Formats: sequence, C-alpha cells, structure tokens
Amino acid sequence: MRAVTKDLSDTYPRAIVHVDGDAFFASCEVAKNPTLRGKPVVVGGLRGIAVALTYEAKARGVVRGMPVFQIKKLCPEVVILPGNYEFYDQIAQRMYAIVRRYTSEVEEYSIDECFAELYDADPEMIVRSIQADLMAELGVSFSVGLATTKVLAKVASKFKKPKGLVCIPQGAEAQYLTDVSVGKVWGIGPATAQKLNRAGVRTALEFAALPEWRVREGFAKPHVDLWRELNGEPVFAVHSGKQGMQKSIAATRTFRPPTKDKALVFAYLVKNIEEACRRARAHGLEARHLFFFLKSQEFQYRRFEATLVRHTSATSAVVAAARPLFERAFSTDVLYRATGVTLSGVQPKIGQSALFGDIDAERENLVFETVDQVGRQFGAHTLFLAPSLEVRKGVTEKPHFTLPYLGEVR
Ligand SMILES: [Mg+2]
Repeated sequence: MRAVTKDLSDTYPRAIVHVDGDAFFASCEVAKNPTLRGKPVVVGGLRGIAVALTYEAKARGVVRGMPVFQIKKLCPEVVILPGNYEFYDQIAQRMYAIVRRYTSEVEEYSIDECFAELYDADPEMIVRSIQADLMAELGVSFSVGLATTKVLAKVASKFKKPKGLVCIPQGAEAQYLTDVSVGKVWGIGPATAQKLNRAGVRTALEFAALPEWRVREGFAKPHVDLWRELNGEPVFAVHSGKQGMQKSIAATRTFRPPTKDKALVFAYLVKNIEEACRRARAHGLEARHLFFFLKSQEFQYRRFEATLVRHTSATSAVVAAARPLFERAFSTDVLYRATGVTLSGVQPKIGQSALFGDIDAERENLVFETVDQVGRQFGAHTLFLAPSLEVRKGVTEKPHFTLPYLGEVR
C-alpha cells in the first residue's frame, strides 16, 4: 500500500488560523454550571447592561448593550450573571495553551481570540483537531477559521458562527467575501465603511476587486494593507507572545508622606497607569498584561497581575482592569508609601489594533488620541481621569479638566 501524502502548500502558502469563542463569557458560565445549558443567559449584571449573552438569549431578542430592566421585561426567564472575568481569563489561558500544542506561533489577540500560524502539510486537519480539543477540554465552543492571511482568517472564523469551521484556501476567497458587508471586515471602521458605500462598494468582495491604484489613491495605508490581505497577500504577521513579552513599560512613584487614604493610593496608582499608557501611545504600542504593586511603609510588596481584555493603550481600560484587584487588596490598616505599574505583552499597534471592528475600543482610542493632542498643546497630564484628581489637588495651578471614569471591567 502506498502512503498518500497531501501537500497543501499550493492551497495554503501561509496557513493562518483564527480561533474565536462563541458568546464566550456566557459560554464560560454555562461550562461552569451545566444546568444553565439551553437557557437564555446574560452576563453583565454589574454594569446594568448585557455584555455577553447565550444564543438562546439572542434568539429571544436580547442584544449586547441592552439594559437589564429591559431584558427582564422581554425575557422574564432570563438568567442574569454579574460576570467573573478572572474565570474567563483562566479559560482563555487554557485556550491559548491548547493551540500552542500545534504551533509555537500563537498570538493572544484578546480574551477569547487568538491567531496562530501553522507549518503542517495538512492545516485543515490540524484546525479540526484544535477545535475538537477546545470543545472537549474546555466545554466552550469556538469558531475556527483557516486562511492565507489574518484578515481572511477572521472572515473565515466569523463565517459560520457558532461552532463554525471554515477553511479558505488560496483561490477560493471570492465565494466567502461576496456576502460579507465591507463594514464587517476586520479593520474597516464605520467611517471607512460609509465612504466605501458612497463609492458603491458594499461587500468585501467589491472592495477586494477594486484596482490597487484606486485603493492607494483613496485610502490610508492601513486600508491598503487590508485590501492586500483580502486578496490573499500576507501583510500582518502573527505576533507570538514571546517577542511581545520582552518589552514592557513601567511607571513607579513613591509618595510622601505615606498614607492610609484609599482614594489617594488609588489616585497614585491611576496616575502611574496614565503615565505608562501615555508612553505606550507615544510609541504606538499596546499592552496585553498589567502588573502593579502596592508597597507599604514596612517595605512589604503586594503584586498583582491582570490580563487586559484586549491589546490596548487606553488608560480607562487599564484602570478598569486594576480597580477590582485594588479593591480587594487594599487594607485600611496599612500605611502605603509607593505604587508602581508595568505594562507588558507590548506590541506595535499597527496590524493588531483592537480598534479593528470593536466599537468600545474605537471610542477609547479616540478619547485618548484627544487626550494626547491636548497634552502636546497644553502640557502632559492636562487631561486626566477623575480618580487621579486626588493627587493633583494643590499640585497643579493651571486649569485642568477631568474625564469621567470611563467604563467598568468589560
Ligand atoms: Mg468571540
């Protein structure tokens, strides 16, 4: 008998996988408590709006962002849960680890997504195996896309949710792009989608079919890159964690006198976060992990670590991740003398920016672009988050504006 070996190097000159959790936070809750299976479940009780929901809740008309009172009216049998982000992150870490069994090139893109590059002869078989492992070991379903570029892999994973497994070999792109509206393509924001629609370009396929000169003339470089990726030309690399983890940005501050004032200690922490994020943005970087410490008068350190819900340089997102840890860690009978922050898992913003298709992230990015612009004009830290006002009382003479506290943990 002759062994049959398949060589798919023609169909996948590069094999990029995108793994994406289906209704991830809600699926994690169901995995933890199987009695919830088949029920409409909504996560987000603490914020008062639906942050995530099961497909059963979706089928009853619940949508993301819907206020809880409205959900209860619409669907009285709904189960509303507060959200357990540490647990979701544990599942995410296990998800990354499972994908790493198949390749070392894994990019932890967000709490429920990763990209990976495969080097096997039969990548289609590998992605089936990855998906089966995820389901069997985590009890959470993931949609998996395989294609020749990151943007196409994103199209593939989204194509048939939930539990989708879609492979787009080289040459088969058109049939997958024809029904995708151009605004749904990773990286195309609402403004660009509108501009394209006005020019008569409605689908991803119509965008991909534009002649290159038209794209280059009418659009900025990131959109030219997207166009190339849609046409199967790899532009964006898979950034495996290791290279990212080497880089970090730290900001530390000792305060005098030492203090027991909780609001003040938190304000110092927020000020460090503001400083670290400002530097990250100045270098065009985004971080995935946050470490911070509180140091007592007796030089005892308590260290904390949080994985951010996505790569970000938005101060508000980082503060939101730090706040619950701080709340738990702070003790009223300790005299604190310093706090410090390190952002790690730092990567260049171009090519992986979470502004791709994420409205919250786009809004945050915009806010902090403005903060930086004002800072350049009127001095750094002219605009800052309300919690750090505490350390600025009497420190700053020039007029300043505070931003509302943006967002809780997502
Ligand atoms: Mg998802």
